[in-house]
Amino acid sequence: MATPQLRLKALEDVLDRKPHFVDPPGARISDYFGTNVFNEDAMRMSLTEEAYYAVRQAVQHGERIDRKLADQVASGMKEWASSKGATHYTHWFQPLTGLSAEKHDAFFEPVGNGRSIERFDGSMLVQQEPDASSFPSGGIRNTFEARGYTAWDPSSPAFVIGRTLCIPTIFISYTGEALDYKMPLLRSIRAIDEAATAVCQYFDKDVTKVIGTLGWEQEYFLIDKALYFARPDIMMSGRALFGHIPAKGQQLEDHYFGSIPDRVRAFMRDFETESLKLGIPVKTRHNEVAPNQFECAPVFEEMNLAVDHNVLLMDIMEKTAHKHDFRVLLHEKPYAGVNGSGKHNNWSLATNTGKNLLRPAKTPKENLQFLTFFVNTIAAIHQYADVLRASIASAGNDHRLGANEAPPAIISAFIGEHLSNLLDGLEKNIKGAMTPDRKTELKLDIGRIPSVMLDNTDRNRTSPFAFTGNKFEFRAVGSSANCAGAMTVLNTIVAAQLRSFRKSVDALIDKGVKKDEAILRVIRDLIASSKSVRFEGNGYGEEWVKEAARRGLSNIRDTPRALDVWERKETKALFAEMGVLSPVEVEARHEIELHSYTLKVQIESRVVGDLAQNHIIPTAITYQNRLIENVRGLREVLAPEKAKKATAVQVKLIEEISEHIATIVTMVDDMIEARKRANNLEDARDKAIAYCDEVKPFLEKIRYHADKLELLVDDELWPLPKMRELMFTR
Ligand code: ADP
Ligand code: MG
Repeated sequence: MATPQLRLKALEDVLDRKPHFVDPPGARISDYFGTNVFNEDAMRMSLTEEAYYAVRQAVQHGERIDRKLADQVASGMKEWASSKGATHYTHWFQPLTGLSAEKHDAFFEPVGNGRSIERFDGSMLVQQEPDASSFPSGGIRNTFEARGYTAWDPSSPAFVIGRTLCIPTIFISYTGEALDYKMPLLRSIRAIDEAATAVCQYFDKDVTKVIGTLGWEQEYFLIDKALYFARPDIMMSGRALFGHIPAKGQQLEDHYFGSIPDRVRAFMRDFETESLKLGIPVKTRHNEVAPNQFECAPVFEEMNLAVDHNVLLMDIMEKTAHKHDFRVLLHEKPYAGVNGSGKHNNWSLATNTGKNLLRPAKTPKENLQFLTFFVNTIAAIHQYADVLRASIASAGNDHRLGANEAPPAIISAFIGEHLSNLLDGLEKNIKGAMTPDRKTELKLDIGRIPSVMLDNTDRNRTSPFAFTGNKFEFRAVGSSANCAGAMTVLNTIVAAQLRSFRKSVDALIDKGVKKDEAILRVIRDLIASSKSVRFEGNGYGEEWVKEAARRGLSNIRDTPRALDVWERKETKALFAEMGVLSPVEVEARHEIELHSYTLKVQIESRVVGDLAQNHIIPTAITYQNRLIENVRGLREVLAPEKAKKATAVQVKLIEEISEHIATIVTMVDDMIEARKRANNLEDARDKAIAYCDEVKPFLEKIRYHADKLELLVDDELWPLPKMRELMFTR
């Protein structure tokens, strides 16, 4: 429901709000950081030596924990959780809906004669069977086996939220297919570990393990709860489907890094406290570019944990927002006309010896290692750009990518001037056979990287994939996405590239080429072959779209088509070879994502139809009737000649309103027809394409006319809070 009264009341409510500061539980963050996590310290205190060791082995080497020890771990975990006030436990998992899922069970168990105990044993810890038939499976469970189960992932520690012990788990079918985000992520972490460790062996025999690191930056919008409830479109779809763009948007750029309003700061502090207690190392907060847009970023962590922490954070943010009378909008584009939200994924690789493989180093030898990983990453982005594009495709993200806002839908890599020159130099210098002189020269060249890196501060905010000194920043990920989707693909393609690199270098060595030279030769070839993916200019410009086309780079603007890459034989082979997704799992994911796209556009289309017909048109008619009455009145009291003059403006307005109403009515009817045709299509891709090409364009068109009416109709009658009210009040 949306009425002028509700709109007015909402605005009054917002003006009355006060900041609601909650004191953190300790003076220093380190006093309470991680207190609700079953971390190393907690395990050491609550577990037997044997059980503690078993968990550590499982985390570090993926070893199985036997049943007896699982019982011990469960018992220690329960004692610890009870001491934190937990009465229930849940297997916490990340189904392909993009949210986290949980089903709580009590520890409590009646044992007859009115007595009861608290029970939690190894079998409850290790495996559960949620009644999961309504989670998306892309047909896997129809074809194979109806049930799915969750299995404990010891590599992400358990935690307590409220009165519930949460156990991170993976979600798989009985035949072993992944039904979630975590299982493929874990497999991709293993793939990159194997491939990168093998390459590290060229440089350092002590490296026995390589882990992916992830530092995400979460952007979001806040909206007051009263305004949220007065906007059915935002409630149902997460974004404003109507509303004229206000006179002032973000042109002045006065919001970015501006002082954070008290009410917002109170909310931030509160959700950060909850996050910190759960061991999420949140560190940075600031205003973002658009009005009422903000960002939160932690210190980077090992990737599996970072992914869990981001999912948790989104959940905590939403829950905490309620306490502060806010709602969080995680949608990629809540408001047309101002910036959307992304989730930059800062990605790098670290060795067990504590080295960041993407940090340029001081000695030539170490820099050869840096160059190896740097160039291989770029080569992977080049070769597998389309899969990477698919990994960030969603209905929401379509509004950012390529829609006059960065990053564009074209995958390219920005590396800065110094490194560009260095790669160009390498590419030219080593052509042909290398003389000993040239080799030294080259080594010196590489040796010079550190000095240029120190003042390498150039940043390119328009690139989807930017090197930022010691990591790559994948900026095109959507704000509501689970990082695991993009990270799984990135790990997999870099792993595949590293594997092929190792093969090429080994082949040269077998032919008698010295190791360093073999490495350099392959690097040089990769620099040359992946050159087209490097772009240093303005990624937002129309010029780049043309240039990218000349270079033969893909520019896939919508989700259903971006997802086509999953159907390709090469894609299925790639994910199967790397042990990340079987062909069946690839097909299932493809189908789920198409389906999810269709559903989102369908919801938006229904909301637009409903609001247009039941709110906007009746409001326009009410106002039009007032005008008609006015005209009639004037004609009654004025002489005909005078009346004609005095009513000219009103008559014109009445006509204009009629035209907009008529157009909207026709379009809504046509949209409904288009929806019906789309709904009759069987194939998931056909349906998604129909929604994309036939249904979605109506959303913009209907909005155009509704927004015109918003400008014509008396403000007092308008039922929906206006864009300026949504964006500038808090
Ligand atoms: P910004 O990009 O906003 O200038 P920073 O470059 O300081 O900010 O860092 C952004 C994010 O990158 C932070 O979350 C940080 O923890 C993360 N980060 C820094 N180093 C690494 C790394 N080696 N691997 C992954 N993430 C990293
Ligand atoms: Mg950044």
